[in-house]
Amino acid sequence: MLQLASGMSRLGTESAFEVLARANALAAAGKSIINLGIGQPDFKTPAHIVEAAIKALKDGHHGYTPANGIPQLREAVSADLHRRHGVTVDPAQVVVVPGGKVTMFFAILMFGEPGAEIIYPNPGFPIYESAINFTGAKAVPLPLLEKNGFGFSADDLLSRITDKTRLIIINSPANPTGGVTADAEVEKLVKGLEKWPNVAIMSDEIYSEILYEGRKHLSLLRYEQLRDRLIMLDGWSKTYAMTGWRMGYAVWPGKLAELATRLAINCHSCVNASAQYAGIAALTGPKDDVAKMCKAFDERRRFVVDALNKLPGVSCVDALGAFYVFPNVSKLGMSSKQVETGLLNDAGIATIAGTSFGSHGEGYIRVSYANSLENIAEAMRRFGDWLAQRKAA
Ligand code: PLP
Repeated sequence: MLQLASGMSRLGTESAFEVLARANALAAAGKSIINLGIGQPDFKTPAHIVEAAIKALKDGHHGYTPANGIPQLREAVSADLHRRHGVTVDPAQVVVVPGGKVTMFFAILMFGEPGAEIIYPNPGFPIYESAINFTGAKAVPLPLLEKNGFGFSADDLLSRITDKTRLIIINSPANPTGGVTADAEVEKLVKGLEKWPNVAIMSDEIYSEILYEGRKHLSLLRYEQLRDRLIMLDGWSKTYAMTGWRMGYAVWPGKLAELATRLAINCHSCVNASAQYAGIAALTGPKDDVAKMCKAFDERRRFVVDALNKLPGVSCVDALGAFYVFPNVSKLGMSSKQVETGLLNDAGIATIAGTSFGSHGEGYIRVSYANSLENIAEAMRRFGDWLAQRKAA
């Protein structure tokens, strides 16, 4: 018998990849599948970004780079953060990694161990809970509620901090709900954290540029008083339709940037060199494609929320960010998983059960509207037919 490390039995997964595999298998077998399960833009990476990577390869950028990212890229990140949030960030505090996920894994590895507690959003991105459990730390869920538009309540979060809490994780705009936390709650959290100076915060702001109805993102970077304990996670995947390039970064406080770099050296050495040049082009080039993408998402968002609310037994609160909605399906008399399976096998619609994002996701499914308006409309028609057939049966 192989003797695996105990952490391996505690490692979770991201079901979106499993649903994608099942959806692809059904499609390969000839079934018509509309994929509303996937968490990535259905747009191509803008051409000038692709060109920059090709140029980098032709120019001979084939070797290792500094482990924390090439200096021009980290300077571009710093300038972009100034443009978007009006903040000054020393490029030395920026560590570029292969995707947003790597920052969360590193942050959780840095703080998690048996005896420690880490607070994370639930429903939330599944890797938070999985990685916390892997380290042996106690994963303390922060329930996100439909009645709050799936934003967090600062009072609730603060009430869960104990002497053992080392890290809190927040994410707005959020996966899987599209929820955006109200500015007043963010302010209240920052004030409340004054009482807990030894608690670090990881703010996952990967959807910060995908916001609707005139909402402006309030980055935690704006709070100088948090700078010595804030890890701000962002990246290229969602904003620039670059999920497969594997490009992410974080602003780390003080010495943690060096520790994150050390983890990078132990793990992946550096990010693909040509992708880093593409990253510079994304941050410094025209933003029209980003604006176009957000406009298309907004149109689909309004359509899908309306269509879901017309389905009997389904209700859906408005989502103000990202490209997900999280309809309530609890009145259908099935578990979230049964709804996910029924929609995929019977109606040919891939969605993700809310429970894939934590126990507080029961009663919901995640619907990604990163698909064409035509496909979304067809999916909603199929969803309606499926409900009618079930009722008739
Ligand atoms: N954070 C959140 C909230 C996400 O939803 C995702 C991806 O779905 C990530 C981070 C990871 O992004 P990446 O693909 O850049 O690793």
